[in-house]
Amino acid sequence: MAEYEAAIGLEVHAQLLTKSKMFCSCSADYAGAEPNTRVCPVCLGMPGMLPVINRKAVEFTIMTGMALHCQIPAHTKWDRKNYPYPDLPKGYQISQYDLPLAINGYLAFDVEGERKRVGIRRVHLEEDTGRLYHVEEASLVDFNRSGVPLMEIVSEPDIRSPEEAREYLVQLRMILRYLGVSTADMEAGAFRCDANISVRRQGEEVLGVPVEVKNMNSFRAVKLALEYELVRQSVLLTRGEPIERETRGWVSSENRTVSQRSKEEAHDYRYFPEPDLPPLEVAPAWVAEIGERIPELPEAKRQRFVRDYELSAYDAGVLTADRDIAGFYEQAVEIGTVGETEITPKVISNWVTGELFRLMKEENAGIESVNFSPTALVGLIRLVQQGLINANAGKSVLDEMFRTGQSPEQIVEAKGLAQISEVHALASVIRQVLDDNPKPVREYLEGKKQALGFLVGQVMRATRGKANPKVVNRLLQEALRERS
Ligand SMILES: [Zn+2]
Repeated sequence: MAEYEAAIGLEVHAQLLTKSKMFCSCSADYAGAEPNTRVCPVCLGMPGMLPVINRKAVEFTIMTGMALHCQIPAHTKWDRKNYPYPDLPKGYQISQYDLPLAINGYLAFDVEGERKRVGIRRVHLEEDTGRLYHVEEASLVDFNRSGVPLMEIVSEPDIRSPEEAREYLVQLRMILRYLGVSTADMEAGAFRCDANISVRRQGEEVLGVPVEVKNMNSFRAVKLALEYELVRQSVLLTRGEPIERETRGWVSSENRTVSQRSKEEAHDYRYFPEPDLPPLEVAPAWVAEIGERIPELPEAKRQRFVRDYELSAYDAGVLTADRDIAGFYEQAVEIGTVGETEITPKVISNWVTGELFRLMKEENAGIESVNFSPTALVGLIRLVQQGLINANAGKSVLDEMFRTGQSPEQIVEAKGLAQISEVHALASVIRQVLDDNPKPVREYLEGKKQALGFLVGQVMRATRGKANPKVVNRLLQEALRERS
């Protein structure tokens, strides 16, 4: 199949995290709500009801467009996309046809060691539909989702492989989460992806016939479905058979795509300007104001972490994949720089990406449910660095902090984990050990250096393992020197 290459364009629908719906004041938070309890005459499509634009949804869409390097045209408008379906009470969806809120941007990222840049054709705003569900023989419809703001991000067919497609989605989801415009939760249906894939011979300029693929419910499904299509279409081309312009659905249980229907064209929807809404004028001052609200984005943060904290690209990548984790880490770094023992950003990174991530993964917990502060984490690392507890004890203290939210000092105290490193506490133990073991002492003084190991062992035993071996070693040598 190496002689064929794919041209893939992705359409992502992301539900926006607004309080209310796109054109009415119903709550947009419908998860877990009883069917048809988040509805009003507007989102039920009652005749004569007038839509009112959700300003926040427009701002979120403009913000996303700006983060994707798009132009934000001054004049946009709303259009009706007409099609009959039981989950669409009005018989049309309010969308944007020829004048979207954002156009001509790009998303750049690294994939398989190379820099990739995918054009963004448009970002526009529309309303979600209701949801059909089935109980035994009956088909029921829930309109709670009807009218929830939905942002559509359409890429150019610049993606060349299923792996690039997956990475594009990973990066896009990260940006939406950083912006706080969407949960981008794919399983909850807040981030949905359709793909257009055409296959052509390597080096050919003209795109092949595009096939639309739907029903992909995970990043993995997107990758598998596109891999399947790449092979299927390549085989048809090799045989000289035509590729149908159609919509296919991914059937994950069978690991294949199946034909659903011939692809509809834009004219099938009879788009026309929405008569109930005026055109939307986007003032430059408004755009500038929205731009100021854009936070540092994942890629810039990742590069800064590598530069300022001397982290590997990999560590910087995992720490910045989630904005809140990056924030937790940066607070810890700041706290680590003050105080008698400086904790380096690298050491903090090791604790976060190692032990803390392990605990979070075991409990399937996000950083928001970690119930200790960056200060407490730094406090723990400091106890280890000062030699008050050893690294293993440090890990079990972190376990306990994770479970109980207690401070590291409390836990160390309660468990009697502190290493006896204070010189005065150890001095008498060492004196006793040397008095009790004249033979190894004599051997050591005669030049048999291995005897030291035995004496260290005796001190550790006498302190029930709580002493810091490094400190014991040093103090023992000093005491032996005095006896020579
Ligand atoms: Zn409503």
